[in-house]
Amino acid sequence: MVMDKLGNSLQDALKKLVKSGRIDERTVNEVVKDIQRALLQSDVNVKLVMEMSKHIKERALKEEVPSGMSPREHVIRIVYQELINIIGESTDVPLKPQTIMMIGLQGSGKTTTSAKLARYFQRKGLKPAVICADTFRPGAYQQLKTLCDKLNVAFYGEEGNPDAVGIVERGLKEVQKYDVIVVDTAGRHSLESDLIVEMENIHAVAKPDYKLLVLDGAIGQQASEQARAFNESVGISGVVITKLDGTAKGGGALSAVSETNSSIAFIGVGETPNDLERFEPDRFISRLLGMGDIKSLIEKAEEALGDEELDVQSMMTGRFTLKDMYKQLESLNKMGPMKQIMQMLPLGGMGAKIPEDAYQVTGDKLQRYRVLMDSMTEEEMLNPRLIGSSRIKRIAMGSGCTGDDVRELLKYHKMMQTAMKGFRGGKFNMQKMMKKM
Ligand code: GDP
Repeated sequence: MVMDKLGNSLQDALKKLVKSGRIDERTVNEVVKDIQRALLQSDVNVKLVMEMSKHIKERALKEEVPSGMSPREHVIRIVYQELINIIGESTDVPLKPQTIMMIGLQGSGKTTTSAKLARYFQRKGLKPAVICADTFRPGAYQQLKTLCDKLNVAFYGEEGNPDAVGIVERGLKEVQKYDVIVVDTAGRHSLESDLIVEMENIHAVAKPDYKLLVLDGAIGQQASEQARAFNESVGISGVVITKLDGTAKGGGALSAVSETNSSIAFIGVGETPNDLERFEPDRFISRLLGMGDIKSLIEKAEEALGDEELDVQSMMTGRFTLKDMYKQLESLNKMGPMKQIMQMLPLGGMGAKIPEDAYQVTGDKLQRYRVLMDSMTEEEMLNPRLIGSSRIKRIAMGSGCTGDDVRELLKYHKMMQTAMKGFRGGKFNMQKMMKKM
């Protein structure tokens, strides 16, 4: 996945929101705090984080919940929109003949990205060519040539010649019959003035349609300085953030894009030539937030809230009858796999012991429980202790089930009753939890 760490912590924050009973100021503040922490840990600029937090809080509490949307969905939508706002628009590099100049520091992934770009256009049916104007880093020529040969992409370079501008001039003539020409340039270990001069000289000769700044996803706040310096000298049309696969924090590069008012064109998500993705802010954020999962969790929670409420009062006073259990099972069944639901609720987090068996109630079993309970008297439902061996026989006969089925149901009830008693330990608000169920 892309930006695993940030994604996971953002998703945790939203899951907490889904689980919370009411959406009020406290809940919003809590979620915002979690999101702040997640973003700051991923190197997103503090100022951006603070601005975004302010917007989320204001909007979540002031904006009216659109009709057809639950308060939860409303808040999640605001978080989603504000995250997209940080990133802004993306740069669209069109599928047409053009010259693209690559810019960036050494090690940022420029050479790899040049080959990836050639591959990208090649897959779209355009004929790409690559010019190697990195005369600074030993090995750059061979690296790029090998990559291009493998991809069957035209390549121009002059190994050992330090005259980058001359190489570009001759290269452009050589590959003029190709559609998309990618010019890979040299970097330096840090921002140095001779690098800026070199970029300006190459820029003057190549007259590129697009100038893509390559930023390493792992760099922190110095990303902004780089973006600003290159933007002031040759102007940046778009940014490629590399190495967003795996553990890269990514927030430094994302902040640089926002601060310098530039935008992202592509992201690098691996080392092979195919690991380049066109950047689409909404898709990127949806993925980061696990929107698919979050959406279905919301739906389940909302559906369940609409269900007939359980006799919370009787459970609070320690009674958990077969009738209660039946209602509870029914609403849980509507929500889907029980284990997943239990994990959504605060029970697991509170350390409540839920027997593994309690998760195993499938639709079939529930159906059998229903049939069994239909053969019970009201008295038996409210006081299952009355059910001895003769009653078991009668219930089994009446329902067309076996005595073992009845005993299994009673055992299950006992297990749930014990679990319920455990929950009443007062560690959390039982009423709130049952409402959620
Ligand atoms: P340059 O000095 O800017 O030309 O950097 P290179 O293209 O040589 O890349 C430096 C290192 O980063 C190489 O080991 C690449 O394989 C690696 N790299 C580049 N892009 C990515 C990416 O998107 N994901 C990963 N995991 N590695 C990358």
